[in-house]
Amino acid sequence: MEKEIREHLSLYGKKIIEKGLAVGPGGNISARDGEFIYLSPTGFALDEIAPEQWVKLNIKTGAVEGLKPTCEVSMHLGCYLQRSEIKAVIHTHPPLTIGLISAGIDFKPFCPDFVALLGKKVPIVSYVVPGGQELREVVVEQIKIYNVVLLINHGVVCVGESLKEAFSRSWVVEDSAKTILAGTLAGKMRYFTEQEADAIDNLPAEDFRRTLLKKL
Ligand SMILES: [Zn+2]
Repeated sequence: MEKEIREHLSLYGKKIIEKGLAVGPGGNISARDGEFIYLSPTGFALDEIAPEQWVKLNIKTGAVEGLKPTCEVSMHLGCYLQRSEIKAVIHTHPPLTIGLISAGIDFKPFCPDFVALLGKKVPIVSYVVPGGQELREVVVEQIKIYNVVLLINHGVVCVGESLKEAFSRSWVVEDSAKTILAGTLAGKMRYFTEQEADAIDNLPAEDFRRTLLKKL
């Protein structure tokens, strides 16, 4: 299982860079297996981390094996401690999303994928200094209820019951930002009404898709 998790982390690290969700040493990701979490080491681009380089942290004792973990280790830990079903945390710096939310443009449901993967509401939190207790507190406060948190002038945090689910959410966030930008530039963006969003949320077909994403 440890070998598989390490390989999956390297795979999703590559996908995050490939999709332009982070650049250089930006962003950090982790996955949980029992009482351990595996985190990206600090100072690495996410597509350059070999399976054996993910940092192993014992949740109970705090013991760390390997390289120095990401500076957001406390935020990752906070998410796992908040909800036992969370198995992956992905923090990215997607440029269009950061630009839109920092400009105050609405980030609301407008299509089925948005509702199915991100939910009917995506919270946006004010800027706080990264890498410490303050960021942990504002993120964990939202993760109590939501699976996606947008951070003004910083980035995005997505959680999931698998790396696949957390990654899909991260990807859909930035893809949604592209559409919202296009719609806003072209004219007045039409968002879903509450009833339209509810109808998607209640579709059995969406339930099936969501269940598949939770599998590793
Ligand atoms: Zn960051």
